[in-house]
Amino acid sequence: MLTRDALEQTLRRIDGRGYKAYRDIQNDYHFNTFSLHIDHVQGDPFATPSKVRVRVPHPIALIPEDGRRHRVRLMATEDYLARQVRAAIRTIARGHRGTGKSGAIVIDAGGQEVLQRTAVTVHPDWVEARLSIGLPAHGRRISGRDAEAMLCEELPRIVERSLLWAALDSDEARAFADCVENQEHIRENLEQRGLVAFVADGALLPRVSGVSDLPMPHDDAIAFRSPESLAVTFELPNPLPDGSATIHGMGVPEGITLITGGGYHGKSTLLRALERGVYPHVPGDGREYVVTRHDAVKIRAEDGRRVENTDISAFIRSLPYGRSTREFSTDDASGSTSQAANIVEALETGSRLLLLDEDTSATNFMVRDARMQALIHAEHEPITPFLDRAVELHTEQGVSTILVMGGCGDYLDVANTVIMMRAYVPHDATDEARAVAVQQPSQRKKEHPAPVKGLTPRIPIAESFDPSRGRREVKIDVKGLSTLLFGRNLIELRGVEQLIDLSQTRAVGYAIHLASERFMTGEKTLSEVLDALDGLLLAEGLDVLAPFRRGEQHPGDFAFARRYEIGAAINRLRTVQLKQMRND
Ligand code: ADP
Ligand code: MG
Repeated sequence: MLTRDALEQTLRRIDGRGYKAYRDIQNDYHFNTFSLHIDHVQGDPFATPSKVRVRVPHPIALIPEDGRRHRVRLMATEDYLARQVRAAIRTIARGHRGTGKSGAIVIDAGGQEVLQRTAVTVHPDWVEARLSIGLPAHGRRISGRDAEAMLCEELPRIVERSLLWAALDSDEARAFADCVENQEHIRENLEQRGLVAFVADGALLPRVSGVSDLPMPHDDAIAFRSPESLAVTFELPNPLPDGSATIHGMGVPEGITLITGGGYHGKSTLLRALERGVYPHVPGDGREYVVTRHDAVKIRAEDGRRVENTDISAFIRSLPYGRSTREFSTDDASGSTSQAANIVEALETGSRLLLLDEDTSATNFMVRDARMQALIHAEHEPITPFLDRAVELHTEQGVSTILVMGGCGDYLDVANTVIMMRAYVPHDATDEARAVAVQQPSQRKKEHPAPVKGLTPRIPIAESFDPSRGRREVKIDVKGLSTLLFGRNLIELRGVEQLIDLSQTRAVGYAIHLASERFMTGEKTLSEVLDALDGLLLAEGLDVLAPFRRGEQHPGDFAFARRYEIGAAINRLRTVQLKQMRND
């Protein structure tokens, strides 16, 4: 390892030279309290910024044992530290220093959700932050002095401000880990309580706007308050800020739950909070105690998507001209076929809780009312609406549904629980709904399709996942939260609404590549491939996603993505081949 003086000398020597001479600083350096690892140097001032790591040994960082006691607290501590590094960068780094990305210092810290990510790693012996740095230049000439200021002055101050426990607010740090641990504790206990979700009293669900994930200001937002009949209490491993050891709120039971009420009364806001409730939230978000089963999947209509060899016959029996739907493939699905495929795929990857909103569903997929049943004879209508499958999904396959529905009363016949939103306040309208269903029987005939025989597993074919592009063996990149470049293919993920962080999207891309190389043997089903991937990521962490990583190099910016989102991306890859395993 070289010294800090050696770095300074090199920077002075290359000052004013062509940008390529920055290669000379690619090395490891020992500073007073930490080591600096310059792993990758960008080719020009406009290229992807250079990748560096700063590592502080524990005898100096002094991260308390309490912050790394087990997986959940460790994840929370790492996430917290990444946010502290970002805050320190904002106060300390001068920012723009010349051409292109010159002067930028960036860490990939999170938003409102707390996710495992590569930005900060707490190892048994050290803590490390992974940064991106725009090495400064004027035109294409190296500005060695600016680089010296960034690497030898700003960076040490950032480290001292954010990675040394003594400099941090230890109460806040502990409260952060406590809160995340509490949320995970509730999530782990939902099932044994017969629940699929929990919304604490006092939770603030609405956001500032449709494009901001920040909470609506307290003065404007109506706090959540559980109806008495649905209220439950959880004991918590850590006390809440007010000292209480339990938390009280609404439990959403297993089965079919309808969220209903007038337009603009907060139905979709509640469902969106439940969608996000598969992830822990930061204290102060307002949704930190909105907790949903980890395997909840949002289902929507998504016309135009690709579907590959999916058995959607449970919902759509046949297509015009007798085309079969047991091995349904299309490059341009309709609203109803896409929504059917989304459900079948969610179940295939292991989900047992479906979240649907009438706003984003295909009407003909959700219901066919009495008059339409009279007009369109059953033999001309291939769709078995979700209404006629929801009960069976629950009783036969243990799959619960939470559905926002204000427009179709036929669902009152199948709902186990009805939550009525009235001016943003939930009421238990289950009994009332039953009374209405009895007084005003639906004229609709239940459609009696053959029972679903269970899923047909599919086997992904490794060769259909080609990440190469031009001369690049692996070209995987994100073009935005919902657009993943995989080799020569763009995977469109706008319909995958629980993908919420750019670094998750990136992780999805590399996870697909890793899975195709290691686990797609031609025998493993998609679900088994995702099992193997889960196991690998649990054992080795997200660093394993970097395909060309040497030693302990900066792995790139990744955040945890669930198997459901990885599976969703596989299913949307336009070249994908999945072979059905049929035994009939
Ligand atoms: P719905 O689905 O019932 O039509 P939405 O959930 O879309 O209604 O909510 C309508 C509007 O009300 C949104 O702008 C939302 O931000 C706001 N809103 C939702 N819940 C609350 C609340 N608890 N307090 C204040 N405003 C809310
Ligand atoms: Mg709505």
